Amino acid sequence: MRITKNEARRRLRERGLRVTAPRLAVLGILANAEGPMSFTQVLDLLGDSDWDQATIYRNLVKLREAGLAPVVSRVDGIDRYALAGDHEDAHRHPHFLCEDCGRVACLKEEIAAALSIDGPWAESIRSAMVQLLGHCPDCLARADA
Ligand SMILES: [Zn+2]
Ligand SMILES: [Zn+2]
Repeated sequence: MRITKNEARRRLRERGLRVTAPRLAVLGILANAEGPMSFTQVLDLLGDSDWDQATIYRNLVKLREAGLAPVVSRVDGIDRYALAGDHEDAHRHPHFLCEDCGRVACLKEEIAAALSIDGPWAESIRSAMVQLLGHCPDCLARADA
């Protein structure tokens, strides 16, 4: 999902946060991300900016606390953030971490369906953070070449 600057402003105000340039920048990055992003990845994408790392981190935490940028993946012990409302299922789907390139991809229905079961574990599985590790299709293709 992509959001406009105006939409980002509206969301900040709605949650009682002041609209600041770093907050808009971080929201913009999360909005354009293909999957959940770590703090380091957000920093990388911001590139050269006038803000130091601590400023960015504080703002990311603010956004998380306000519910605008929840942590949706903790694979490998690293918090990864996503824009709230980004996916209908709020990233409850399984995530795949590529051990080669480090990207975390959202895996959709097919895999979630394979994990859906009935019985006492059904609710636990549904709300679990399911993480898969391996080599993503891009890296597999590169390895073959
Ligand atoms: Zn990869
Ligand atoms: Zn996801």
